[in-house]
Amino acid sequence: MTKKTIKEYEQKRNFTKTPEPAAKKKIATKSTAPIFVMQEHHASHVHWDLRLEIDGVMPSWALPKGPSTDPKIKRLAVRTEDHPISYANFEGIIPEGEYGAGTVMVWDIGTYENIHTKDGILIPMEQSLKEGRIEVVLHGQKLRGAYIMIRLKDGDNWLFFKKTDEYASVQNILAENKSALTQRTIEQITRGKK
Ligand code: MN
Repeated sequence: MTKKTIKEYEQKRNFTKTPEPAAKKKIATKSTAPIFVMQEHHASHVHWDLRLEIDGVMPSWALPKGPSTDPKIKRLAVRTEDHPISYANFEGIIPEGEYGAGTVMVWDIGTYENIHTKDGILIPMEQSLKEGRIEVVLHGQKLRGAYIMIRLKDGDNWLFFKKTDEYASVQNILAENKSALTQRTIEQITRGKK
């Protein structure tokens, strides 16, 4: 397992060429609830990128099949490099030839709540991340309720799945295919519609 730092984020990108935000050395931590984002990314392969604000950055995972609201369906989530918090609002086109070239849409965005406890005591998100088990309630426009992430043995592969609650559903949530920020479809973003 390699470290997935914000340094890797900077090293992979040429900020004179990509419209993605540069990682600032210091990112102001907010006193409000931490945020999450699920970005639909039409790169060489379509995938969804989940990012959770933890300790001033956004640890990130790529989900080849995206999220499911059905507790029976566990989706692979591969840990990628930490992203800056400012990335959560990024929607647009990464130019041809650049890392991750293709269209990025903010499929869902909102806040989250840490609900991972042990013996009745809340486990800090930093510790959950390190130990490989995350339990959160998502307050998004599409994703709501409790979700669990479990790291598989010795690696960057995790499973992401819905915990059974009133927001669990067998409907295909990915059928809701418009941006949570701009209501545009991925095709409209690719065409450069404002
Ligand atoms: Mn991606």
